[in-house]
Amino acid sequence: MKKTTGTDRSITSRWRPQTRAVRAGTWRSEHGETSEALFLNSGYTYESAASVAARFAGEEVGMTYSRLQNPTVAMLEERIAAMESAEACRVQASGMAAMTAALLCQVKTGDHVVAGRAAFGSCRWLVDNLLPKFGIETTVIDARDNAAWEAAVRPNTKVFFFETPANPTMDIVDLEFVCGLARSRGITSVVDNAFATSALQRPLEFGADVVAYSATKLMDGQGRVLAGAVCASQDWIDNVLLPFQRNTGPNLSPFNAWVVLKGLETLSLRADRQSRNALEVGRFLEGRVPRMLHPGLESFSQHNLAMRQMEACGPIFSVVLDGGREQAHALLDALELIDISNNIGDAKSLACHPASTTHANMGAEARDEMGVEEGMLRFNIGLEDPRDLIEDLDQALVRAGL
Ligand SMILES: *Cc1c(COP(=O)(O)O)cnc(C)c1O
Repeated sequence: MKKTTGTDRSITSRWRPQTRAVRAGTWRSEHGETSEALFLNSGYTYESAASVAARFAGEEVGMTYSRLQNPTVAMLEERIAAMESAEACRVQASGMAAMTAALLCQVKTGDHVVAGRAAFGSCRWLVDNLLPKFGIETTVIDARDNAAWEAAVRPNTKVFFFETPANPTMDIVDLEFVCGLARSRGITSVVDNAFATSALQRPLEFGADVVAYSATKLMDGQGRVLAGAVCASQDWIDNVLLPFQRNTGPNLSPFNAWVVLKGLETLSLRADRQSRNALEVGRFLEGRVPRMLHPGLESFSQHNLAMRQMEACGPIFSVVLDGGREQAHALLDALELIDISNNIGDAKSLACHPASTTHANMGAEARDEMGVEEGMLRFNIGLEDPRDLIEDLDQALVRAGL
């Protein structure tokens, strides 16, 4: 394997983000292929017994087993790290594998975790069910409220865990304040950045310690594979995450890594265009639905904060209808172009009813508390012509009585 300029940090650190997204991390085999090669192998062979012994001892550079290293996976990790301006990145089999690893690798019985209450359903399950099972105390708070973070800190608080924007209420967390508070108290902040990605928001620049991803969403962006990623300092990745990941094995397959690598090349183009499309569709919907939760609109209560820490609003927003679940389902059923789907970040426009899908399992009380109303619909705006999306929404709104 031949390393290219994309593997030299002293060079990639001078590149602008879009150049990193296309070239960072690329190695080439003796064939000189243009696109990244797909190494679909689990094992490796060695020149000699002494050579494999040296590799296992860490005295010789080289790969030993795909749960530990794989060239295609390594290319993806290097590229994501470069895009994030992180010292290091490790990828996992899904966003939830990434979140689980990022939390479990650093906590032990008796520790305390503070988390934002508005969150992806499975992220809330980790906090509400998995961690307490192992004697880890958890507190969920309104993550928009800076004072609530301060009030929740205890002597044994180890981790702050939150997403911004949050799913599906679009709650925005003040990254600079909350990550700064964590730093000042010796707490590790873990930010789930799936809704924004490095194309729109880089939490490390605001003082976050760990950035975790569902790469299934905007990074792949075309509804093909599940993937996850965790970015942090080299020291944290090597000494905190890696012992956990190497021995528990939530690894990403080389094939899926290759698909995400190709997705990253167009990430910023898609994130930018989808943000613009979402704003155009949002402006149309604003006059037609009782309530919009859209960080890009001036009417959104946290619009200024969102735009201070994000480059653009992203493709996702939610609307709240007065007619509850019945009217929300009626609107979904009336859509002809926009698909009913619980995925997000896709190039295809999608809509879902969180209370009966992504947030169904947590129960009505937790939904009420986090603001997931029965009349709420979450939209992912894709790469179609927004005029076609508006026409589809227009006819569906009429059929749903709006
Ligand atoms: C989808 C999602 C996850 C989980 O990711 P998977 O790839 O589906 O496992 C975690 N957090 C957020 C904010 C998400 O949107």
